[in-house]
Amino acid sequence: MSGNEARVQAVHQITNRQTMPPKTPERLEKIWAENVFSLSKMQASLPKSVYKSIKSTIVNGEKLDPSVADAVATAMKDWAMSRGALYYAHVFYPMTNLTAEKHDGFISVQADGNVISEFSGKVLVQGEPDGSSFPNGGIRDTFEARGYTAWDVTSPAYILETDNGSTLCIPTVFVSWTGEALDKKVPLLRSIAAMDKAANKVLKLLGHTDVARVSSSCGAEQEYFLIDANFASQRPDLLLAGRSLFGRPPAKGQEFDDHYFGAIPERVQVFMQDVEETLYKLGIPAKTRHNEVAPGQFEIAPFFEAANVASDHQQMLMTVLRHTAKKHGFMCLLHEKPFAGINGSGKHVNWSVGNATQGNLLDPGDSPHENAQFLVFCGAVIRGVHKYGPLMRAAIATASNDHRLGANEAPPAIMSVYLGTQLEEVFEQIKTGAVVDSKKKGVMELGVDVLPPLTKDAGDRNRTSPFAFTGNRFEFRAVGSSQSVSGPLIVLNTMLADSLEWVGNCLESELSKGVELNTAILTVLKSVMEEHGAVVFGGNGYSEEWHKIAEERGLANLRTTADALPVLQQEYVKDLFEKTGVLKPVELESRFEVYAEQYILSIEVEARLVVSMAKTLIYPASVEYLSKLASTIGSLADLGVDLEKESAKKAAELTNSMVSATRQLSAALNKHDFSTTAEKMQYCATTIRPLMDEVRQYADSLEGEIADSYWPLPTYQEMLFIK
Ligand code: ADP
Ligand code: MG
Repeated sequence: MSGNEARVQAVHQITNRQTMPPKTPERLEKIWAENVFSLSKMQASLPKSVYKSIKSTIVNGEKLDPSVADAVATAMKDWAMSRGALYYAHVFYPMTNLTAEKHDGFISVQADGNVISEFSGKVLVQGEPDGSSFPNGGIRDTFEARGYTAWDVTSPAYILETDNGSTLCIPTVFVSWTGEALDKKVPLLRSIAAMDKAANKVLKLLGHTDVARVSSSCGAEQEYFLIDANFASQRPDLLLAGRSLFGRPPAKGQEFDDHYFGAIPERVQVFMQDVEETLYKLGIPAKTRHNEVAPGQFEIAPFFEAANVASDHQQMLMTVLRHTAKKHGFMCLLHEKPFAGINGSGKHVNWSVGNATQGNLLDPGDSPHENAQFLVFCGAVIRGVHKYGPLMRAAIATASNDHRLGANEAPPAIMSVYLGTQLEEVFEQIKTGAVVDSKKKGVMELGVDVLPPLTKDAGDRNRTSPFAFTGNRFEFRAVGSSQSVSGPLIVLNTMLADSLEWVGNCLESELSKGVELNTAILTVLKSVMEEHGAVVFGGNGYSEEWHKIAEERGLANLRTTADALPVLQQEYVKDLFEKTGVLKPVELESRFEVYAEQYILSIEVEARLVVSMAKTLIYPASVEYLSKLASTIGSLADLGVDLEKESAKKAAELTNSMVSATRQLSAALNKHDFSTTAEKMQYCATTIRPLMDEVRQYADSLEGEIADSYWPLPTYQEMLFIK
């Protein structure tokens, strides 16, 4: 096939395809969590004492009693086998954004040659995967070669159904023999524990005697694109890099073309229904809706859950989206910027902290006392973002998210806090010492019950902020669509732990002077605002002006991953993780190494693809077109058609420029003598990336010059509008 034949065939196949008929929706109550080994299933199948013991581990975080493991394992296996599972897998979350699993059969061969199904407590609790190929940033060279998985009792086991059968999946942590965290789950659990400890101290100082374990919650909104698989399979860039490395954005206005748009919803809706059903069975509380920002782009947002469970569910959700898309003849793109010039995809991480006795600690209450408590926690967050903004930026630093951050459609790379007009006013007043009742607009005396009643103002939204207060939680909007939410959650919990610890110490010292509690709170909050108020920003985060203001305020603007990741090597970040017990220095350093390697690798892979696609797809097409023109230009001139000459000249010039830029990129990829990883990252950001963009720029212009029938790649218009 040559030129656009394959494209034409794809369009034909897509427009003539039969949409998978929608399934009759199952009743939610019937399928809800049917594939989850939930507390209620445990209660039904375990002896009372065993159930009580395991429940207190799950609910109250008490240590797992090893003597109950055998009973739980047997019940789990019986349940799984009754649902058709013959295999089990310890699922873990390595330092990539992926999910990893190792499958084993329940089968056990006996001495007499017979087989029985077996699953012991020992196997449930600990596994030894062949994890040698997972990135570990040098940890396992220093310590022990093998990595071990250990059951995370707080995240329920579940059955994953695929066309190849069902598997019992057990969420686990992944650690080295000497206990170093090799995954994203261990530090997440540690960050929750650190935050709990500090929050407990503060709550007690605020006068609470009954303080339950404080944990963090997360609700993640996932954006994604759906592209027909017939097109995707013709784009090496989509297959290998998850984004288009070439492609001319459609002319403005085309996204409203009815001809293309009409067919979208039905097929996508059937897909969404299938996704939801799978998620419901897995106990993932999904709710979907279209996202209207870009054609072909959609969003799914489950209800919020405990951070650890939400994070596991988020990983499952990404897997389910990808698998289900395949089944429906789509490719699901989770990349942050699959199409240049078209709106990108993020993952808004809604985050709050709370417990069973005091509730959501980021929810302004009705009474002055509850408000004081809310302001303390909110102030701690403000301090955290100011002190550790660069770390937040590092936690969302990937090669793919760099395409989004700082562009005028996504939050800037500058970390700031948006509080909403009312709350911003309150904190401003705390800073100046005059607290005003924001409802009555009257100045109140600074003193006892003076913290103003706060009304929830969910309508007050600023979409241009990377980190916004939205009524009863913060929304971290700069997180990338393909990312695990664990990294951002670890940073948020850890910086809050540090801030709460500081708040606790300040309160203690004020109270020990005999100062009254509310006055002490105001003193602490005043000092938060004086030292850290610069991070609060309610204006337009997309504006050029903000970049200037932010610089004046001393806020970091880490534009690329190459700028951001070295933050992980800074002393104050090392201190933060060490004193909170979330990451030992060696664990932190390994993360820097792994993320830096991933950044470099993904840019190198893309750059090589740019070279090969330019050489083997685009160049041949333009040569073919040019020779066709060359051979007809004489006869066309005879007919009085003169324009072709101009067009041929332009196409020839663009082809030459593209070839020369491709050569430069190729040569640039041959440099290997770097003294540090950081230096190599900078080289990728400042030399390789711009050269890739240059090749692309010429190629995309060529796309506008060459006759469509010669163009070898499915166009943006086709991929985005034909479904
Ligand atoms: P948006 O208006 O930003 O598009 P959505 O309503 O789509 O918001 O999604 C909001 C997300 O925030 C949901 O996942 C929701 O469950 C979650 N959420 C709501 N309250 C909290 C909370 N207290 N803590 C964490 N997440 C929350
Ligand atoms: Mg949102």
